[in-house]
Amino acid sequence: MDKEKMENELKRCLGCKISFCQKGCPLGVSPHDFIKLALEGNYVEAQKVIREKNPLAETCGLVCPDSFCQKTCIRAKKDSAVAIPCLQAMICKKVPSEKLALPSKNNKKIAIIGGGPAGLGACFELLKNGFSVVIFEKENKLGGAVRLIPDYRLPKDVLDKEIDYITKNDRVEVRLNSKVDNFVELEKEFDGVIIAVGEQDCRKLGIEGEEHSVQYKEVLLDVKAHCCQKVLVVGGGEVALDCAVSLKKNGAKEVYMAVRRRRDDMRIMKKDFEFLDANGIIIKDLCSVLKIKKNGESLDLTIIKNEINEEGKARAIIGSDENWSGFDKVVIAMGADCSDLFKNLEMIKCGDMTGNAGTVVEAIASGVNGARLLIDKFKE
Ligand SMILES: Cc1cc2nc3c(=O)[nH]c(=O)nc-3n(C[C@H](O)[C@H](O)[C@H](O)COP(=O)(O)OP(=O)(O)OC[C@H]3O[C@@H](n4cnc5c(N)ncnc54)[C@H](O)[C@@H]3O)c2cc1C
Ligand code: SF4
Repeated sequence: MDKEKMENELKRCLGCKISFCQKGCPLGVSPHDFIKLALEGNYVEAQKVIREKNPLAETCGLVCPDSFCQKTCIRAKKDSAVAIPCLQAMICKKVPSEKLALPSKNNKKIAIIGGGPAGLGACFELLKNGFSVVIFEKENKLGGAVRLIPDYRLPKDVLDKEIDYITKNDRVEVRLNSKVDNFVELEKEFDGVIIAVGEQDCRKLGIEGEEHSVQYKEVLLDVKAHCCQKVLVVGGGEVALDCAVSLKKNGAKEVYMAVRRRRDDMRIMKKDFEFLDANGIIIKDLCSVLKIKKNGESLDLTIIKNEINEEGKARAIIGSDENWSGFDKVVIAMGADCSDLFKNLEMIKCGDMTGNAGTVVEAIASGVNGARLLIDKFKE
């Protein structure tokens, strides 16, 4: 969006008396207020309104789906919702964040396990309340699953800059390459512990020959290494879309998506269908992979067709098996789960691992809420 388009988009806001858009934001950011300030040319205050509630504001502006502020924006009823996330990203890009303002320090130190959006959201809220924090992260960088979002949607320097905004101060110690196995032990060492480990166990198909496939995490961490002639991506959500488009953009010749339900049931945004078509991705809907067989250097697949039954569920059509041949790669992109080991811990948990988040903004909000629960305990 260029300057002129941005100004036109700002002007589309109706300045409603009731901020419906704010109600749609899991973090309670008020588009009504920041748009008003931006229209007055006061971008410094506009970004303050955003960043005081959302520490990963530009990141969210680039990746938030249309199911939050845009869904509740009243303008959607008239013609189309104001492009709020895009405006948020542009305002934050225009005015770089200042140093995080910290209140006077209390003597409490909290351990956060997991440095994704939930852990970072918890850190942000604890810092604003005078706490010190140690973040334990098993990987060599903070950011969690956000690092898997392809660069064409989220340049990683935006994420890095916002992570620095939260963590580059004398109240935060980041311990990278530090996988925590004993959570309870940490409770003895720290004044409190918050767990935000996300969903680590990639979902499997449970079919014969699955060992010949690769998981989406592997592919998205190094797309170039997985590029080849003919690929099948199994899954119908945003993760599958990211794999398919990234592979195509990086040189894969033929990219197919195998989707269990109908094309219209895919868990992606409307605009993503156009994006898939524009990138030449071929969607094979109402089908499931039954078997993967290695045939020399390539992979042959047994596929079964599905139908949607009276209850709206996908059901295999007996006898409809087909053979698809000549694939170089099969990517399983059906998301991930959190292991029961983590879920059953009786400690403060937040983010995707709770099953109540699934987007960056929800994970941050969950982290903020987790931190507030802990902060309240000190007030008792
Ligand atoms: C490909 C892809 C595309 C996505 N696209 C979007 C999008 O467009 N918009 C959107 O809003 N959301 C998107 N998401 C979802 C979003 O990234 C997640 O909802 C969010 O990252 C969840 O945050 P979290 O902090 O709960 O978990 P995570 O981001 O998974 O972070 C958990 C962190 O904990 C660390 N950890 C795990 N176990 C341990 C341990 N034992 N010790 C120490 N550290 C540990 C992990 O390494 C990780 O860094 C996407 C996700 C993927 C995978
Ligand atoms: S609901 Fe939409 S139109 Fe109304 S103030 Fe919010 S952004 Fe503007």
